[in-house]
Amino acid sequence: MIAEIIKKIWDLYYIRSRENGPEIVRAQYEACSSHLPLIHVILLTSIWGVSLTSKDCAPAWLAFSVPVVFTVFSVMRIVHWTSTRSRFMTIGQARKAMARTRLLGGLLPVVVSCWALALFEVGDHVVRVNIAYFMAISGVCIVVFLMHLRIAAYQIAIIVYVPLIGRLLLTGDTALMTMGINLAVASAMLLTIVYVQSRHFREAVYSKAALQKASEHNQTLANLDSLTGLPNRRLFFSNLDDEIAFAQKNSRRLAVGILDLDGFKAVNDLHGHNIGDQLLMQVAERLNGVLGSHVLVSRLGGDEFALLIKSRNSNSELLLTGEKICSVLRTPFFVEDVRISISGSIGYAVYPDVARTPHELYECADYALYQNKRANRGYPGLFAKEQAHELEARSMIEQAIRAADLEKELTVHFQPIIDIRSHRVAALEALARWESPMVGTVSPAVFIPIAERSGKVGEITLILLKKALAVASEWPRDVNLSFNLSAHDVSSVERVAKLAAVVMQSRVDPRRIDFEITETAAMGNVAQTRAAVAALKTLGCGISLDDFGTGFSSLTQLHAFPLTTIKIDRSFVSELDKKPASYKIVKSLLALSRDMGVECIVEGVETAEELAVVTGLGGRYVQGYYWSPPVPASELGAFLSARKADAPAHDVSKSETIKPRALVS
Ligand code: C2E
Ligand code: CA
Ligand code: CA
Repeated sequence: MIAEIIKKIWDLYYIRSRENGPEIVRAQYEACSSHLPLIHVILLTSIWGVSLTSKDCAPAWLAFSVPVVFTVFSVMRIVHWTSTRSRFMTIGQARKAMARTRLLGGLLPVVVSCWALALFEVGDHVVRVNIAYFMAISGVCIVVFLMHLRIAAYQIAIIVYVPLIGRLLLTGDTALMTMGINLAVASAMLLTIVYVQSRHFREAVYSKAALQKASEHNQTLANLDSLTGLPNRRLFFSNLDDEIAFAQKNSRRLAVGILDLDGFKAVNDLHGHNIGDQLLMQVAERLNGVLGSHVLVSRLGGDEFALLIKSRNSNSELLLTGEKICSVLRTPFFVEDVRISISGSIGYAVYPDVARTPHELYECADYALYQNKRANRGYPGLFAKEQAHELEARSMIEQAIRAADLEKELTVHFQPIIDIRSHRVAALEALARWESPMVGTVSPAVFIPIAERSGKVGEITLILLKKALAVASEWPRDVNLSFNLSAHDVSSVERVAKLAAVVMQSRVDPRRIDFEITETAAMGNVAQTRAAVAALKTLGCGISLDDFGTGFSSLTQLHAFPLTTIKIDRSFVSELDKKPASYKIVKSLLALSRDMGVECIVEGVETAEELAVVTGLGGRYVQGYYWSPPVPASELGAFLSARKADAPAHDVSKSETIKPRALVS
């Protein structure tokens, strides 16, 4: 029966505490828990104060029983509090603790009030005043401490003050009655303050919780790519840190793959960003669909994705997974009824085989991708240990470029472009040469891409252009200058304006300058390059599409450029006389240039046989070792004076450096 009543009372308290949200319960628990020892200290001093002042008027059992029991109880609670204080409480446990506090907040004041009132009955005037004083003061303190637990505070106030005030008013003693009235007014004020404060407390807790939720939401947004919903670059690197630490501890392997889409930029340019975005979403879906849970896919930005492969896959298994991804990407996509074909290349690096830190692992995977894009586009490739030397060399060159006195160390060599109809030098192509005191002579094919990566290429281009123009200003007026630009040089209006300024400040007529842009650079950002190229063309400069045939440009895209010349890449020219496929390609490219109404330069002509084929196909401008490798400006004299004299090119063979062979075969 008693147990049942206790259970009912407990349920009442517990259910009441369940009405509060978890944030409130936790905040209440923390506030009350931090005050618990103080509450006990105040109660103990009050109870012992009452006990000692009334011991002479009351029997000992009455004066001391409650203080002794309460002291034991308080000590036990404080010991328990000390041992559990730093422990994490679940919301359920915190709720139970709060229900317990409310229950005790009901029981203890009943016991203490009854005891104090019993002593009040036997005490003299001084004892009575003391009892009233102790009860009033300790009541105020406890109510203030339990302010956040409104029900408990009200309970205590009612249990302590109502009987006390009633009893004081009934004494007939003016001083005690006045005290009662004063206590009644003060306690009413106190309860009002408790009400207001607990409301503020709730509001503060709720707004803190809302703020926390918003910041958690922001945190999620900051870590996810808003377009695809995949983890973003930041989350990828933080996961990579964690996974490497885990792999290190547990002697596991871990692979990082960088995936880059081939042909994505062209889709963006041709069909617009909306289609490009939808394509990226579909790519993300396909990647998630094809990869298991042991692979974490992130989007690093643009059309670059990262794979974090956590299983103990062997290298061949990694490549197999890569093949699977690449083949899934090769399957055409359909975006708003547009059929889109792209491919993806992947570079892998494995921990601990090739790198041990997150940064190194990423760099190795990125390098493997870079190499793979050149040699094995559309497929996966692994960073091999041997490549570590290349990567090391690359970073040495990068450092050397940063430290270089570029003005002094860079020079320009020139290679003639011959008009085979008139046997004249039609133009000279400027080719960069870098003599570094740190790393020696470095080929432009090596340092230009590195300078592009490290943001130095703009400065390099301007230095080279000034030097090339200074030399070209000394040439006969009908010899043009061909100058190579990198993708970076035509990527913004400001950069093009700088080039234009250098051209305008030179003594060379802009109509004598051809700017060469590689097909891959031009296709990087078609709209931007087109605008840049148009600006250069308005100056009067010619625009050549370099290395034509090696990129992925379509005719439609080519048409978008105001080109004056295309340069057929030397890979199609090598052994042209022996390779029917090359022959067909050169033949159709020459026909294409005629149809488009642009000039065509055939690069890399090395033998008389190759030249004969080009001549037979109606090619007019050729360039290659057959006439001359690139030479310093000081050695151009023979070519240029031969021109002036309008002499046949073979006369020029007197020059030692330039070794033109029979121009007319
Ligand atoms: P490119 O513009 O295609 O230049 C032609 C490259 O082919 C030159 O290499 C030249 O020396 C080489 N070459 C010429 N004729 C023959 C031949 O008959 N057979 C063979 N096997 N090779 C031949 P180089 O000077 O090492 O330049 C390499 C690349 O570096 C250039 O290719 C160009 O893309 C880039 N580059 C050179 N100078 C500059 C520059 O000032 N600015 C920029 N952005 N790129 C430059
Ligand atoms: Ca070139
Ligand atoms: Ca070329």
